[in-house]
Order: sequence, then structure tokens, then C-alpha cells
Amino acid sequence: MMRLPLFEFRAPRTLDEAARILGGEGPTTMPIAGGTDLLPNMKRRQQVPRTLMSLRRVEELRQIRFGEPGSRLGACVTLTDIAEDPRFRNGLTALAQAAAQVATPQIRNMATLGGNLCLDTRCNYYDQSYEWRKAINFCLKKDGVTCWVAPGSRKCVAVSSTDTAPALMALGARVRLVSRSGEREVLLSDLYNNDGIHYMTRRPDEILADVVLDSLHGWRSTYWKLRRRGAFDFPVLSVAAAVRFEANGAVEDARIVIGSAASRPLVAAGASRALVGRSLSENAIDEAATLAARVAKPLDNTDFDMTWRKKVTAEFVASALRELRGDDMRAHRLSLAQYPSEGLYF
Ligand SMILES: Cc1cc2nc3c(=O)[nH]c(=O)nc-3n(C[C@H](O)[C@H](O)[C@H](O)COP(=O)(O)OP(=O)(O)OC[C@H]3O[C@@H](n4cnc5c(N)ncnc54)[C@H](O)[C@@H]3O)c2cc1C
Repeated sequence: MMRLPLFEFRAPRTLDEAARILGGEGPTTMPIAGGTDLLPNMKRRQQVPRTLMSLRRVEELRQIRFGEPGSRLGACVTLTDIAEDPRFRNGLTALAQAAAQVATPQIRNMATLGGNLCLDTRCNYYDQSYEWRKAINFCLKKDGVTCWVAPGSRKCVAVSSTDTAPALMALGARVRLVSRSGEREVLLSDLYNNDGIHYMTRRPDEILADVVLDSLHGWRSTYWKLRRRGAFDFPVLSVAAAVRFEANGAVEDARIVIGSAASRPLVAAGASRALVGRSLSENAIDEAATLAARVAKPLDNTDFDMTWRKKVTAEFVASALRELRGDDMRAHRLSLAQYPSEGLYF
């Protein structure tokens, strides 16, 4: 049995108090929300904070506000809240589909949106017990000096494995970061670095307080996830796509984001641009799929063969765009075990 290391515990009731604690205690204090990632990581000694500061009693972080001109989702809203609430449809479908495919129902009941956006990067050489990692002399991400995926690399290539980040990036989301010294709002896309260790631009004293979305009127969105088991598994490749159509059916705006193919979700800007002003014909879809796949550079540090995962990128972009133009893709999704049952299709 793997045991947790000893730690101090704080449970503030307001965001102000939480920001003061985090700002006052330094980087050995970490926020904890659902704990579904951080606690297993602590058991494996990948992360060893001296103090955990729970965010679960901060009422403000559990609020959801829909409205015009946009919406605000508190960081401690659970993934079940998002997956099961019918208001997360139409423009927000990609987010609901991403949340519904994280882990298992029990984990989604605990797991929060903020925790999912701040999820640690993953790698076959890192997500192992302390003894396993010690036996290979550790790795660059934790306690070692060599990246065992790319031994010549000075940069850690652990993979961004969050499901909701690509979906929210495709929806143009921003996040509000709160600290003792104030607050700032940044584009979600600017929250991430392509670096397996320093994968976030969030400072250790900042709390991700909420996700902010502009009006998604007229947008349609979808999320496609590759994993070995439909019941639960981290993504090893994902595609989020959002499109706004003009009255004549041409694409007015589009965003395609690729997840789990680098240390951060990747924006396929060229593919998105290639769609603007055109209808979603097979030619336009093929062109966008080819351009998007060029952006994805999966490495050999997750499940499945890396060259195949790159090919799947093009297939998923094409499937996502066909779905957004109105094709019925249910049978295709079910054949990929994307959902354990048809009931989760929306
Ligand atoms: C068996 C299993 C399967 C899983 N499958 C998936 C999957 O398919 N897809 C997926 O995306 N994830 C998966 N996960 C990982 C995890 O369950 C989810 O990512 C979950 O959403 C994390 O949220 P949490 O609230 O539990 O985060 P926590 O574990 O509480 O925290 C995760 C990280 O975020 C930080 N953090 C949390 N909240 C905040 C905040 N508001 N501000 C600043 N920092 C914060 C913590 O300090 C920590 O570093 C899986 C986990 C398990 C155990």
C-alpha cells in the first residue's frame, strides 16, 4: 500500500483568506480541490507539498453563472456538475463532452474544473511509484537529470493530459487568477507552456478562481478523445473544435485545438484559418485535417504508437468537423469506445 507523506492542512472559507495563506506560506503550500490527481501523486512522491490548502469550503469557487454577455464557472465546480447539466450544450457541448469523458463517475464527482485545468503533465517514466522511478535513476521531471523519452533533451516532454483544457481553449475561454497582491485575467491558451515541468504560467501563489466565457451564441463545438478503454483512461490524443457559421452556411470563425500531443494543448491556427469563408465540404475538411495533424508531434511516452496517434489527429479533426456540419457521427464515436453508452452522446 502506498501511504501519503505527512502534511499540514488548511481549509479557508473565503477566496481572500485562501490567497493570503498561499501568498504567505511559499511554494511548499499547494492548493487541493478534489485531490484526485494530487493525492495519488503525493503517494508516489512526485509532488510533496508540506501543506495542502483545500479550496472545497470556498463557496465562491463553486458558483456557475450563465448569462449575457457570457458565463463564469467557479474553479471548484465538479466535472459531474458540468457533464450532467443540460445548460452545458450547444456552444458549450465540447466542454460537457470533455468533462463526461474524464476518469470514472466516482472521480468526476470529486474532480473539479480548476484541478483539471491545472493537472500535472504525465509520462510513462514519471507516473510510477517512487521505487520504480528510483530503479531507473529517476527522470528529469522529478529528482533526476535525464529525460528517458529523449535523453538528449534538456526539456521535459511530459504530456498535457487534461480533457477540459483543449475544449475550453476552442471555446476561447479566459481564466481569473487571484493572489494576495491582486488578480489578473488571462486567455486560457496563455496559461500553458510547452514544457513538461514548467507547464503553467500560473504563479505558485495564484489561485485559479474561475473560467470566463464570452457569449457562444451561434457557435457549435465538439470534443473527440483517444484512449484505450472507453470506461476510463487519460487522453493520449484529443481534438476540440468550435465553429460559428454564417447564415449561408459558410464558416465565419473556427478554432481547432489538439490535446495530449505535447506538454500543452496546441492551437491549430492554420487549420482554423483554412476553414473561414468556406462551407464544410469534404475538400475543406481534408485540408484542415492535414494542416492540424502537422501541428501534433506526439512522442513515445504515453499509450499507443506515436506515429499512429499523429494519424489519428487528422482523422479526429475530420470527424469533429463533419459532426459540426451536422453529420450523425454516433456510430463512429461508439466504435471508438468514446462513450461507454449511447446515453452520454450529446
Ligand atoms: C484513475 C484516474 C483516471 C483519470 N482520468 C483522467 C482523464 O481521463 N482525464 C483527465 O483530464 N484527468 C484524469 N484524471 C486526473 C484527475 O482526476 C482530473 O484531472 C481532475 O479533474 C483533477 O481535479 P481535482 O479537483 O481532483 O484536482 P486536484 O488533484 O485537487 O489538483 C490537481 C492540481 O491542480 C492544482 N489545483 C487544483 N485546483 C486549483 C485551483 N483552483 N487553483 C490553482 N491550482 C489548483 C493542485 O494544486 C494540483 O496541482 C484521472 C485520475 C485518476 C485517478
